[in-house]
Amino acid sequence: MDSRTGLPVVGMVGGGQLARMTHQAAIALGQSLRVLALDPSDGAALVAADVRYGRHTDLAALRDFAEGCDVVTFDHEHVPNEHARALAEAGVPVYPPADALRYAQDKRAMRERLTELGAPVPRWRPVTGADDLVEFGTELGWPVILKAARGGYDGRGVWVVSGPAEAAELVGRLRAAGTDLIAEERVGLRRELAVQVARSPFGQVAAYPVVETVQRDGICVEVLAPAPRLPEELALRAQQLAIDLATALGVVGLLAVELFEVPGAAGRTDDGSPATGGGEPALVVNELAMRPHNSGHWTIEGARTSQFEQHLRAVLDYPMGDTALTAPVVVMANVLGGPEGGMSTDERLHHLFAEDPGAKVHLYGKQVRPGRKIGHVTVLGDDLEKVRARAARAAWWLRERHE
Ligand code: ADP
Repeated sequence: MDSRTGLPVVGMVGGGQLARMTHQAAIALGQSLRVLALDPSDGAALVAADVRYGRHTDLAALRDFAEGCDVVTFDHEHVPNEHARALAEAGVPVYPPADALRYAQDKRAMRERLTELGAPVPRWRPVTGADDLVEFGTELGWPVILKAARGGYDGRGVWVVSGPAEAAELVGRLRAAGTDLIAEERVGLRRELAVQVARSPFGQVAAYPVVETVQRDGICVEVLAPAPRLPEELALRAQQLAIDLATALGVVGLLAVELFEVPGAAGRTDDGSPATGGGEPALVVNELAMRPHNSGHWTIEGARTSQFEQHLRAVLDYPMGDTALTAPVVVMANVLGGPEGGMSTDERLHHLFAEDPGAKVHLYGKQVRPGRKIGHVTVLGDDLEKVRARAARAAWWLRERHE
């Protein structure tokens, strides 16, 4: 408890943009987020007052950090599961709990648990040697997807494998480096969707509208809220699926469920794979994240309660906030680092604001590197194509080299 404010202390492990934006939401709730950062240049360390330094893999540093926190939560998934468990055993509530967090840390554990729960997943198998992958590819037809079970992000740790020779080379190399692997069928997806829910220790859940996430080179570049032309029945199914998963896995805080929309009748074929024939589109779960997520940045202006506030409410066991949209159409575009040179960020902002007074900019205070997510922009409106074009143009202004 913070004796000055009489409010509980929330500690977030990790000092990136998610902690930075959570801190921003914490301020409005009278809080000041305590952050465990690696470096004073981390996005959240630049703005929060209560910053501690240490590695998230160092149990002693985590214990020191947790001392005096009323709850500990995360800005990323890289805290070793046994460390999260050790903190909880020492008496600090850790949200999401280690037992839930493992399904966001390990794709194999996630696939196993989702299969047990009867959730729709691609056909998959663990891969311990090249033979496993060759057998899988021969059975399903090439190409197939190979994934590192742990540590991947933005598509790093995902490979499309075209045949047995590539399978042998890749699996040999990755297994020699100690990487645990799974194989998945390559889903013939129509588009990618995401749905976020928040769940409190009390068990209250609140789901956000389903969004479409647009990826380029494995990186999310755009989020459209609500997902355009999504049949209401499918949207409700996606939200119910996310609520059921949050409850079954014991998640506390936010859960983002990344989904593939596939053509075909809902339900599954005889061999257990998602049906891909004619009929209504169906959903397949790709990934889980248990923290604020890029697919929810639009909620800062686009929903009555932002995902960052909602995460805080959830881990503090406050009642959940309203998740309704604040406009008919909301589009978020990520700003990726562009080529060096040209205008300064200051000049770019000047031009952007002159051109589009309604565009909302969020920069993370990061050093610009090509392809790195350095910020995002959000535009609200009525007409999807217009709003989308404005968001893309705003992101372009902040990214491209302007002489
Ligand atoms: P990461 O954890 O690195 O984000 P994901 O497992 O989410 O990795 O995969 C990254 C991207 O690769 C997905 O957004 C999707 O575009 C593509 N992808 C992943 N799995 C499959 C699959 N089974 N079939 C088709 N595309 C896939």
